[in-house]
Amino acid sequence: MLKIEEALQIINDQQIELSTEIRKLSDSLGFAVSSEIRAPFDMPAFDNSAMDGYALCGISKEYQIIGEVAAGDDHQFELKQGEAVRIFTGARVPAAASAVMMQEKTRVEGEKLFLDELPKEGQSIRKKGGELQKEQLVFDKGYTITPAGIGMIGALGMDQVEVFKKPIINLITTGNELVQPGKAKGEGQIYESNSFAISAAAENFGFPVHKKHSHPDDFEQIKTGISEALEQADILLLSGGISVGDHDFVKQALEENGMEQQFYKVFQKPGKPLYFGRKANKFVFALPGNPASSLSCFYIYVLPFLQQFSGFQQKGLPKFQFPLKEPYHNRSDRPSFLKAKIENDEVRILDGQASSMILSMAHANALAFIDAETNLQKGDLITCYLIG
Ligand code: AMP
Ligand code: MG
Repeated sequence: MLKIEEALQIINDQQIELSTEIRKLSDSLGFAVSSEIRAPFDMPAFDNSAMDGYALCGISKEYQIIGEVAAGDDHQFELKQGEAVRIFTGARVPAAASAVMMQEKTRVEGEKLFLDELPKEGQSIRKKGGELQKEQLVFDKGYTITPAGIGMIGALGMDQVEVFKKPIINLITTGNELVQPGKAKGEGQIYESNSFAISAAAENFGFPVHKKHSHPDDFEQIKTGISEALEQADILLLSGGISVGDHDFVKQALEENGMEQQFYKVFQKPGKPLYFGRKANKFVFALPGNPASSLSCFYIYVLPFLQQFSGFQQKGLPKFQFPLKEPYHNRSDRPSFLKAKIENDEVRILDGQASSMILSMAHANALAFIDAETNLQKGDLITCYLIG
């Protein structure tokens, strides 16, 4: 059976044809830029004041005030030694100014300005090019646009940006026992919850699911459902029916749709029966049906692939090490992703780790990675993948 790192490597090694699109700046959050962005001009584009106060020519404690310049004014004062202008934050600083003194440290009598202290050369002047010089690299290809990133791109004067397209994702759940929430549930049936959890997790990371379908454990229906879902989708996610039971038809249905298996089964807990396949530029993850398994596999395997498909530099959940709050003995013979809670810079492994259970995951904010058959003490450092 594949090791976790091997499965992740197979995913990471997929050659994908990425496509690009131009998006409005306001609709670009969470997309990765498809080529590097360089500054089209110096930033700031002109020397400007960091304070409301006075722009001063020469270093002294007394000046003659000769005028006023506010943000957005293009009036250029020819300041001479001993002269000052009233100035406001963001206003262009006259060329000959030596410094700006904040108004809190000044006193004005008529046209005369008195300072409490001597100004320092260049003080409170934001220099032209102080943040970025023309042609300087702002973002590398693959930078994922954050809110501040949108601000940065806007500050460069761009109202649109070329990004990598995100995949069209379809989702199929399988199982005779599944009933949609809100409907009446019969004997032996359960509510279908995986599609909601997986779509929400995907959406949370900026990957909305396009269409969802639910099929019973019927080979023909699953096969046709896969074929239809793949017509539009770049990435198809399935839940359930991928183990070895008599009613598990997903693997065979994928094969009959021409899907080429990249891997099947990973030596881990939860989520052993995980399948990854590809057909040309279309990809399928078949996730185990147990709620904690499907979501755990989504976070660890699907998410980095969605990001890779979207041209991201950074892939996967944020990962940090935290000390264990209480001793923990992992009795499983497989490396485990355990539902855990990070609180006050410590991590605690939660009760209820069975893959059929979703409660502990709903209370967790991390998946703690713990090797097979490991006895850990309080304070031992654990790798935690942040899920919320
Ligand atoms: P399977 O992988 O199809 O053998 O399903 C494993 C377990 O997960 C069974 O107990 C199923 O009832 C349950 N399960 C499968 N699909 C879902 C779903 N969409 N929502 C909630 N539970 C599910
Ligand atoms: Mg099933």
